Amino acid sequence: MKLYEFEGKEIFKEAGIAVPASVAVTEKEQMHLFATLFTPFFKQHPEVVVKAQTLAGGRGKAGGIAFCQKLTEATVAAERFLGKQLLNETVTKLLIEEKLAIAEEYYLGIMFSQEQRCPVLIISKQGGMDIEEVGVKTPELIVRESINYLQGVDDHFLDTVLKKAGFTQQQTALKGVIKKLYAAFIAYDMKMVEINPLALTKTKQLIAADAVVVLDDAAQYRWKKSFPDRVGVGRELTEREREAHKIDEQDHRGVAGRTYIDLDGDIGILASGGGASITCVDALLSYGGKPANYTEYSGNPPEEKVEQLTRVVLSKPGLWGLWIIGGTANFTRIDETMKGILNALEDELPEFPIVVRRGGPGEKEAFALLEAAKQEHKLDIHYFDDTTPMTVSAKILVDLVNAYKKKQENKKGRNAVDKRFV
Ligand code: GDP
Ligand code: MN
Repeated sequence: MKLYEFEGKEIFKEAGIAVPASVAVTEKEQMHLFATLFTPFFKQHPEVVVKAQTLAGGRGKAGGIAFCQKLTEATVAAERFLGKQLLNETVTKLLIEEKLAIAEEYYLGIMFSQEQRCPVLIISKQGGMDIEEVGVKTPELIVRESINYLQGVDDHFLDTVLKKAGFTQQQTALKGVIKKLYAAFIAYDMKMVEINPLALTKTKQLIAADAVVVLDDAAQYRWKKSFPDRVGVGRELTEREREAHKIDEQDHRGVAGRTYIDLDGDIGILASGGGASITCVDALLSYGGKPANYTEYSGNPPEEKVEQLTRVVLSKPGLWGLWIIGGTANFTRIDETMKGILNALEDELPEFPIVVRRGGPGEKEAFALLEAAKQEHKLDIHYFDDTTPMTVSAKILVDLVNAYKKKQENKKGRNAVDKRFV
């Protein structure tokens, strides 16, 4: 799990690493209280930095950092940032910090290396926003040193690293920061931590001006703090995502809803999981189809679990089609799982096209159920067995969805005409 800067800095603070004085805006609703809440802070810190909280880095260059004087300027910046699209995310949180008088910007990081199977300390005197460029043009200015788990970061190790990196001053203070950072890295089971810049202020203090922290999800039960769930890069879970995950957590039989992602298209997807499903989504996209959501069920989940998941998929507003896609299952009962899907569909009775491409145990029975639902409930179901390639069913669905959209538009047009004559 990747943490926001303000969450990372909470860990730093707890670890004894200096961070700028700050206040956070975590909800847009707080904005009307902005002046009331923060007047005391601005009395102490007339110059501030307003920082949009995104999980992606590079905010400085993307315009997500504003230097402001006084409360009024900061209010304008805060209002400009909140709700804005930045680095593929919608900004919902801000960190407002005292502006540091920075003399030098260092880079300090610890990453767990999969290759070396140990943490690696990374440090450079040339930190700041151009660190990537430093890495390309003058890689020798970035020092990387593997950390021996048994030894940790002792004085001898750190003296050698700091010398290599060209540090001639502030060594004791720097060593202190690295030791604290390494302790936090271990205590929180971090996969990586980065302070860029680690600022040396004009008054010679070392302060973490930024924080990037990635925690190892497998160690979640040991974390000392809890953080709201978030998916991929960029946002916290939607209500539907939470609901789908709950279906899976509450029933250990098979998998249904462990993976559920809301997307911004108009085709619901119930996939069987695995790499083939991702290839199918790629195929759908290549034919111009746009997923509204994506979820998986596999490992022979019971009917009711699949039914609940289908209800979540169908609850997404603005659906124009549904795709039930999977290869040939080994032991997932196709008839049982299809019953679950049909239970939900027969309640909702959507008019849009539904394409099913599936094979495996009980497929004949499943296809019979689909045929019955089609006849009885007038559902627009099109089903295919494993003689139709999965990606071909993507094209079939996209064509059906487009035809359905056109039909609906014509209908609307006709209605408009009709009304004039009524
Ligand atoms: P990033 O671009 O997402 O990594 O965001 P940072 O938090 O690293 O901020 C970008 C840049 O803004 C930093 O590299 C600093 O140069 C500058 N910056 C951030 N905070 C301060 C501050 O308190 N004082 C000053 N003078 N500069 C700052
Ligand atoms: Mn940074």
